[in-house]
Amino acid sequence: MRFDTLAIHAGQQPDPTTGAIMTPIYMSSTYVQAGPGEHKGFEYSRTRNPTRDSLENCLAALEGASYGAAFSSGSGAADALMHLFSAGDHIVCSDDVYGGTFRLFDKVFKKQGLSFSFVDLSNPTVLESSITPRTKAVWLETPTNPMMKLIDLARVAEIARKRSLISICDNTFMTPYFQKPLALGIDVVVHSTTKYINGHSDCIGGFVATANKELSDRIHFLQNAVGAVPSPMDSFLVLRGVKTLHLRMQRHGENGQRIAEKLVGHPKVLRVTYPGLTSHPQHDLARRQMSGFGGMMTFEIRGGLEAARKFLKAVRIFACAESLGGVESLIEHPAIMTHASVPKETREKLGISDGLIRLSVGVEDVNDLIEDLEQALAA
Ligand code: PLP
Repeated sequence: MRFDTLAIHAGQQPDPTTGAIMTPIYMSSTYVQAGPGEHKGFEYSRTRNPTRDSLENCLAALEGASYGAAFSSGSGAADALMHLFSAGDHIVCSDDVYGGTFRLFDKVFKKQGLSFSFVDLSNPTVLESSITPRTKAVWLETPTNPMMKLIDLARVAEIARKRSLISICDNTFMTPYFQKPLALGIDVVVHSTTKYINGHSDCIGGFVATANKELSDRIHFLQNAVGAVPSPMDSFLVLRGVKTLHLRMQRHGENGQRIAEKLVGHPKVLRVTYPGLTSHPQHDLARRQMSGFGGMMTFEIRGGLEAARKFLKAVRIFACAESLGGVESLIEHPAIMTHASVPKETREKLGISDGLIRLSVGVEDVNDLIEDLEQALAA
């Protein structure tokens, strides 16, 4: 089946007892056994739950993976993956990851004895020069958050394979609708399903997918042992949200392109970074490894922090809020909001200036969105 059909049907059948077309929300912590060890595959809901099963199978199908594991948040998914490693191991990480991922690595896992090199993987040769005899994995986001740099997934996967590293890609921004890291050779995909996959800003979730059986067994062991699993209700919400992923992503991409083109050349805007613009320094790579460019972009407003504050207060449809990927348009200031946990010097080095603004373009009428940005820029 093709993507749009999988988004609606994969992992789901009508309920065998009632015929209900929607997967029931199995609010049960435990399952009755006919005798000790005699059960129907479900023993305890941290280990396995039927609603979560459907979600995991659906999302795995969309990523082109054989195995999937759902988590209670994207950060919970990242935490479980980091438990694949042991004290002394080294991980190469792209330098411009979500602030919370940086915080998890820098403030939690460094204390557990892991070490990290945060480097600019938009040049993949930097990966080769960052590998040490202790390196076990490479972790990346592409496009990066918030600077929208791209990383060549096929090239990174090739280097990782040659050097026996596990390659992990956070595919939250693009979703499998626009980008399929596993098909390009990456070992593991991780998501914050809180964002586009659920798409309705009404729950927090995470997901991990792989085509590698041995890795999947280790990840499922950790999912159960660490225990950051989503509730049956949240599993249901994400399963429902993902049914329209293809429709939403198309509109996010169309609206994103129109808005990026409108902002370019606006007298109050210094630079716009969106992979769909031919001015994006890696536009060719974007065309090669993505089938669309999504709804995320950043731009630099003239006038620094003061202008940014005024602008963010003046928008009426764009909501000033953290997060991204919902049907509604959001706007935020990375230096004060999502990336405040990244040290100021690092932010400056990455280009996260005080005038930088990030948009998560929703699926409203694009003309209303453009008018909103124009009136706020005028203010
Ligand atoms: N990865 C990316 C790219 C994100 O933007 C976020 C959250 O903003 C996360 C991971 C963490 O996900 P969660 O907030 O679901 O824990």
